[in-house]
Amino acid sequence: MFDSQLWLNGFATLIEANADELTELDAAIGDADHGSNMRRGTAAVLTALTETPPATVAETTKQAAMVLIRSVGGASGPLYGTFFLRFSAAVEKDDLDTAGFATAFRAGLDGVVARGKAEAGDKTMYDALAPAAAALDECATAGTALGRALDRAVAAAQAGSDATVDMLARKGRASYLGPRSIGHRDPGATSAVLLVRAAREAVR
Ligand code: ADP
Ligand code: MG
Ligand code: MG
Repeated sequence: MFDSQLWLNGFATLIEANADELTELDAAIGDADHGSNMRRGTAAVLTALTETPPATVAETTKQAAMVLIRSVGGASGPLYGTFFLRFSAAVEKDDLDTAGFATAFRAGLDGVVARGKAEAGDKTMYDALAPAAAALDECATAGTALGRALDRAVAAAQAGSDATVDMLARKGRASYLGPRSIGHRDPGATSAVLLVRAAREAVR
């Protein structure tokens, strides 16, 4: 069973624990606020989910989307917000299996692309989310159980995040640095790994 409340809770916990690192990464190639942006956003999501607990995965992720879009000023708020909004809209049945999760995750990724126009290799959160989506799709086709599928997705997201170190940024603030962005891990790709890790931990 996939527990979407646990997903958002776990995401907030992992962001909180890694906020300083996310901000340091953003200090190197951006404006040093990715950790604080994500901390503010995910903490606000937790508050909202506690005050008015949603009943379904679709409602939970939709509420998370609205709060993230509203409470995060930086680029990452609307991007993660759109991810969750599209994820929510693509949930067909509440008891998510691998195919259901893969479909919703793919829809979320498509939302990030619709919003930010990032392509593979642009050094953004896309470069961690897209390999995770591909791993989930493969596992859905192979009939792999959701927990194992998300193990694969975490590994794929981590490898994607690692690969951003050598990339030249073509989207977002880091792109202003041009070649000087090379040699630094992308902050958004790093937080995207946490999103997938939290999903793995939400399978019960
Ligand atoms: P800001 O850049 O507005 O300060 P954040 O620091 O919170 O916002 O988020 C920066 C992250 O957002 C980047 O590391 C990158 O992963 C992601 N990002 C920025 N622009 C885009 C885009 N157009 N498409 C996808 N991701 C993007
Ligand atoms: Mg920033
Ligand atoms: Mg900023």
